[in-house]
Amino acid sequence: CGIVGYIGSNRAYDILIQGLKRLEYRGYDSAGVALVDCDGKLKIHKSQGKVSNLESIASGANVEGHLGIAHTRWATHGEPNDINAHPHMSQSGMIALVHNGTIENYAVLKKVLMEHGYEFKSETDTEVLVQLIEYIKLTSSCTLLEAVREALLQVDGAYAIAVVEQNEPDTLIVARKSSPLVIGVGEDETFIASDATPIVGYTDQVIYLKDNEIGVIRRGEPVQVLSLFNNEPSTINIQKLKLSLAQ
Ligand code: GLU
Repeated sequence: CGIVGYIGSNRAYDILIQGLKRLEYRGYDSAGVALVDCDGKLKIHKSQGKVSNLESIASGANVEGHLGIAHTRWATHGEPNDINAHPHMSQSGMIALVHNGTIENYAVLKKVLMEHGYEFKSETDTEVLVQLIEYIKLTSSCTLLEAVREALLQVDGAYAIAVVEQNEPDTLIVARKSSPLVIGVGEDETFIASDATPIVGYTDQVIYLKDNEIGVIRRGEPVQVLSLFNNEPSTINIQKLKLSLAQ
């Protein structure tokens, strides 16, 4: 039901947890976070229940790292439990993804992936998408961005997604169709979220991603927005956020 992401030089975990708390008003049943830690390892912490449960689970763990994605889930496919909570990881453990919305053709995609030896941990529609991204990446030796785009072209449904990969610790990829996604452009750091509330106070420069657009956020580079269909750069309209913390 809510997505937050961060890439920059501050501790991602703190910004993500605060962002999830600011999105709590939307309602949710589970929460989770994926971090690329300072050793370059992709780690996931997730749990059914409140964001405070997630904090208890993560307490004592190494939550350092400057890139991460986080999620509050409102279950549509698969009951609310720890395993079905997002982020979901690909089979190799290299790619993590959070998703708001529903993948309508998940059953057929899941069947094909299982025929190719993929095993599924959760009952969610979302896990199909992260496995499909990995399958495309490995079979066509393409970049994460190309694999995300190819996978989304095969998906029917509504989504806002954020994706990270262990081997690309300087890249955060987002996309949307029928679910909102905002990119907050700061000084040497970038935020993403389902709505602007997690971004308020960090930056007032925002890009509202449009349907069928992919946002590519690379550390130290300007945000790029591409069309899902033709891979062409879209015109980026950076707007000034009018929300403030006092409101
Ligand atoms: N369909 C996904 C699930 O059930 C995402 C639900 C959501 O938007 O939180 O896990």
